Amino acid sequence: MAKGIQSVKGMNDILPQDTPLWLYLEDTVRRVFEAYGYQQIRLPVLEQTALFQRSIGEATDIVEKEMYTFEDRGGDSLTLRPEGTAGTVRAGMQHGLFHNQIQRLWYMGPMFRRERPQKGRYRQFFQVGVECFGMPGPDIDAELILMTRRLWKALGLEGLTLQLNTLGTAETRVRYREDLIRYFSAHKDALDEDSKRRLHKNPLRILDSKNPAMSALISEAPTFDAYLDDDSTRHFQGLCEILDQAGVAYEVNPRLVRGLDYYSKTVFEWITDQLGAQGTVCGGGRFDGLIEHFGGRPTPAIGFAMGLDRLVELLKDSGKDVLSAPDAYLIAMGDKATKKALVLAEQLRDQLPFLRLVTNCGDGSYKAQFRRADKSGARYAIILGEEELEKVSVSIKDLRDGQQERVAQDEIAAWLKQRLEY
Ligand code: ATP
Ligand code: MG
Repeated sequence: MAKGIQSVKGMNDILPQDTPLWLYLEDTVRRVFEAYGYQQIRLPVLEQTALFQRSIGEATDIVEKEMYTFEDRGGDSLTLRPEGTAGTVRAGMQHGLFHNQIQRLWYMGPMFRRERPQKGRYRQFFQVGVECFGMPGPDIDAELILMTRRLWKALGLEGLTLQLNTLGTAETRVRYREDLIRYFSAHKDALDEDSKRRLHKNPLRILDSKNPAMSALISEAPTFDAYLDDDSTRHFQGLCEILDQAGVAYEVNPRLVRGLDYYSKTVFEWITDQLGAQGTVCGGGRFDGLIEHFGGRPTPAIGFAMGLDRLVELLKDSGKDVLSAPDAYLIAMGDKATKKALVLAEQLRDQLPFLRLVTNCGDGSYKAQFRRADKSGARYAIILGEEELEKVSVSIKDLRDGQQERVAQDEIAAWLKQRLEY
C-alpha cells in the first residue's frame, strides 16, 4: 500500500490526548506573566533573513546551518523564525515601543530550526519568551528569575536548578576573546571542525559546543571572571544579592554561554536532569547592545525563552493529570428524543455556563451510546429515552458507581450543580 503523505521530519502533530497538558501549561504561563504586569506581543512567523543573520550572529549554529531560509516569489530572502527576540526587537523599533519607555513583553509560538531531531529537540518547537526593555539594573534580571521560579511552582515542577553567569560587555570580551584564541590555538589538534572554523571568527562559540569530545578541552579553558569590568561585576553582585534575599538557589557557572551572540552581562539557564541530554528548559540573558546594533538608541534589554515541548514532557513525567473529560454525556434514544436532546443541552448550558456536556450525535443503540459515554470519560450519563421524554424527565447514571436515578428536566441543572464543583 502506498504510504500517504507524512508530516515533515522533526515537526510534530500534537494530538487531542496531549492538548489538555499544553493548554494547562499555556494558561498557567499566561496567568503568572499577567500577574507581573507583562503584556503579550504577537509576531509574524516569517521575517527578513537579514534580521536573524544580524542579531543571532553569523557564526552560530542557528544561522550557519539551522535556519529555514527561502526566496519567496518576489525574490525576497525570508526565514522561518528560529527564535523570538529578533522579531520582538524589530517590532519594537518599527512601532516605537522603546524610546523612553519601559516594556515588559511576552510571546508564544512555534520556532523553526533544522536540528537533528531527538527527544526534546525538534525542527518545529514551541517557545514562550519574555523580553523587557528600558531597565538597566539587576532588579529586572531578578524579577525574571523570580517569575520563572513562581511559574515552576504554579506548574508543580520540582528539581529545576538555576545556573547563572555574566558575560560582561562586548568591550570587555575583546581581551577574553584574544586569550581564548590563544588557548584553543595551542590545542588546535583537539578542535573539531566547527570549532576550527570558529576559532578566529567567534571563539566564545566554542565554549557552547555540544560535542562531548570537546568537553575536556572546554573545561580547562580560561573563564571570563578575570576579565570582567567593574560595572558588570557590580551588576552581577546586585542580582545575586536579590536572589539570596529572595531565597533563590543558584549555581554560578563561569562557562555558561548561550547559543546566540547578542547576550551581555547576565545569562541564565534553568536545567533539569530528568530529560536526558536536552535538559535546558529555559534560557535567557541581557542583550543591552542589540537595539543599538540595529541602529536604534542604546536600550537596556533582557529576556528569556523556554521550551514548551520540554516542559510538557516534564509535566507528563511528573504525573500531572489535567482534567479534560466532560462532566456529562447526553444519550438520546429515538428520533423525538434526539431532537429534544439538543434543545435540552442548550437549556443546561444556559443554566450552567461552565458545564462540560457532550451530546450524542450520530445516533446509535443504547449500548453504542453508553460505550461513547464511557470512552469520553464523562462522570454522568444523562439519558433521554421515550419514557423519560413522556415524563419530562431524564435518567442520570453515575458512570463511576453505576447508580441511576430519575430527575425532572427542570431540576437537572440543580442536580448537577450540587454534585459538580461549580
Ligand atoms: P539548547 O542548548 O538546548 O540547544 P538553546 O541554547 O539553543 O538550547 P535557546 O535558543 O535559548 O536555547 O532556546 C530556549 C529554549 O528553547 C531552550 O532552553 C529549549 O528549552 C528550547 N529549545 C531550543 N531549541 C529547541 C528545539 N530544537 N526543540 C525543542 N526545544 C528547543
Ligand atoms: Mg540550540
